[in-house]
Amino acid sequence: MKKHNFNAGPSILPREAIENAAKAVLDFNGSGLSILEISHRTKDFEEVNDEAMALFRELLNIPDEYKILFLGGGASTQFFHVPYNLLEKKAGYVNTGVWSKKAIKEAKLFGEVEVIASSEDKNFTYIPKGYKIPTDLDYLHITSNNTIYGTEYKTDIDSPVTLVADMSSDILSRPVDVKKYGLIYGGAQKNMGPAGVTFVIVREDILGKVSRQLPSMVDYRNHIANNSMFNTPPVFPIFVLKETLKWLKSIGGVPEMQKRNKAKADLLYGEIDRNPLFVGTAAKEDRSLMNICFVMAEPYQDLAAEFLEFAKGKGMVGIKGHRLVGGFRASCYNALPIESVQALVDCMQEFEKMHVK
Ligand SMILES: *Cc1c(COP(=O)(O)O)cnc(C)c1O
Repeated sequence: MKKHNFNAGPSILPREAIENAAKAVLDFNGSGLSILEISHRTKDFEEVNDEAMALFRELLNIPDEYKILFLGGGASTQFFHVPYNLLEKKAGYVNTGVWSKKAIKEAKLFGEVEVIASSEDKNFTYIPKGYKIPTDLDYLHITSNNTIYGTEYKTDIDSPVTLVADMSSDILSRPVDVKKYGLIYGGAQKNMGPAGVTFVIVREDILGKVSRQLPSMVDYRNHIANNSMFNTPPVFPIFVLKETLKWLKSIGGVPEMQKRNKAKADLLYGEIDRNPLFVGTAAKEDRSLMNICFVMAEPYQDLAAEFLEFAKGKGMVGIKGHRLVGGFRASCYNALPIESVQALVDCMQEFEKMHVK
């Protein structure tokens, strides 16, 4: 049976990228060696690294004064790398869910943290708006897409202080005005590649301003000075990331991707709003294009487990909601084709016929 992969992360990758990765595992560039057994200090791998960076720069329109890093450790490691490098006195954080909270917890180890806005009062079902950003902050941190709750910033906000964003789950899903940010980071495993590589985009002039000593591996400047090869980089994940970016370029880049993501989200949200069995959980104006969260409507709540089983029987994978929200979450990342969303919609309609008279 065809599987429809709605996993929240690690998640679906383009078939081409997986096939090229499989080939490189067996024989990389006709070298007679596997990509898994070569030095990162070879010309062949340096080309992979450079191409991955060049594609990322091109696809996201990253200006020259920003450096790109591919590191290990996941987005969670950036939760402390960011304040280590940038927090001298006080940072501001917008609390839009679990990932924001984890970032806040780490930042508090390095200085004062002011939570300048939060949507915790409504279980993070919306993106806070209309708050004032104090100008005495070292930086302001936001989470652009809230993977667990299905909320997303629709525009790049204006900030009078250095803006830092965790874009783990919506990077490359829409055009971003990189110039509005000082630093953008995220794990690759939602929208950009496999698990094991973390991207950082940083404007160099924001670095080197804190008075504390930085461990070498934490100091972004060491990674920048070594073209992101200060230590052994995640060689294979970077290769797969490069293949994923090649695919994204081949379909028309980020504007085309955004169009497709909108079409997928419109299709699924449209069905959620029409079908009496289901309701969406996120505020409509803040609905994520990436993670679409919904639950059974009040009178049908005891059908949730049955719907999950039914959908599973039709090839749907990964649609159980996160335990903090319940219900269902369909992650519709870049590589998910609209046919999979249509298959889920068909499933919802069939289930409706079975249960709504
Ligand atoms: C998945 C996720 C993380 C955690 O990423 P790791 O690479 O597992 O550390 C952080 N932030 C957001 C928004 C995420 O979706």
